[in-house]
Amino acid sequence: MAVFLTEKEKKKYKIYKKGSLPESNNILSHQAEACRRQETPPCLWLEGSFTLEAAVILPVMALFFVMILMFFRVMQVQMDVQKALDDTGRKLAVMAAQEGEDHEKIVGMAAANVLFKKNIKKSDNINHYVVNKVAGINLLKSKFTEDKIYLVASYGVKMPVWLPGKPYLKIRQHVICRKWTGWVEDNGNMEIWVYVAEKGSVYHTSRECTYLKLSISAVNYTDIKNKRNKYGEKYRECEVCAEKIKGKNTVFITDQGNRFHYDLNCGGIKRTIYMIRLSEVGNRKKCSRCET
Ligand SMILES: [Zn+2]
Ligand SMILES: [Zn+2]
Repeated sequence: MAVFLTEKEKKKYKIYKKGSLPESNNILSHQAEACRRQETPPCLWLEGSFTLEAAVILPVMALFFVMILMFFRVMQVQMDVQKALDDTGRKLAVMAAQEGEDHEKIVGMAAANVLFKKNIKKSDNINHYVVNKVAGINLLKSKFTEDKIYLVASYGVKMPVWLPGKPYLKIRQHVICRKWTGWVEDNGNMEIWVYVAEKGSVYHTSRECTYLKLSISAVNYTDIKNKRNKYGEKYRECEVCAEKIKGKNTVFITDQGNRFHYDLNCGGIKRTIYMIRLSEVGNRKKCSRCET
């Protein structure tokens, strides 16, 4: 390309020389002068930019694309390993069902390794990209507890380019399975479920408790002075939503509350109810409104 341009420039010079224009007016005169003197023509900078592109930018771009392809390579390997891990976890969980009867530990590192090696496909991905191939994938960090199986596969994936201090990419994948050992029926209190409101200081034995069941009604702001709640209390402004919204014509009240709200979605007006075990109530006291 650069050579072609230089030739073209020379031709231009020749044409100009034949014409009537004085050489000093010619914009290419300095280049022509250089050519005549057999010096390096100033147009060489064009070749320089191509050299720079070929030498620096091209390798950087190539590296960039190789890195992107590396992600797909790692993803394929991860998918293969994950599938084998999942299958291994499931099979071990079922095998654990037999443990209970004769108190023999069947599920352990040995069983996990055997099953994993059986499940992992001898795929090209693993053979090409994993350090030491299938043998390079170890389950040494796996744990086996009373009712759970934690499988951890660690391995290295070869890097597409050499990076100092990073011969391979370390990858770790997990699977947690619950052993098929059934469940023990909870005794006594554990079976009693109670209801608590979010941030509530009491627990309710009945879901039908009036404290949990709010009936919200919209009233005109001007009427609020005359309104009384179930217990004969006056309604006062809610501190939470008054900060954000104020001066609305319609406000919201409940039968039991003693606040009026500008915002229907205010935390003070809505109730989030959780169902928890009686043993989990902690410091919460029993609701006085609930009838047992
Ligand atoms: Zn409010
Ligand atoms: Zn209650």
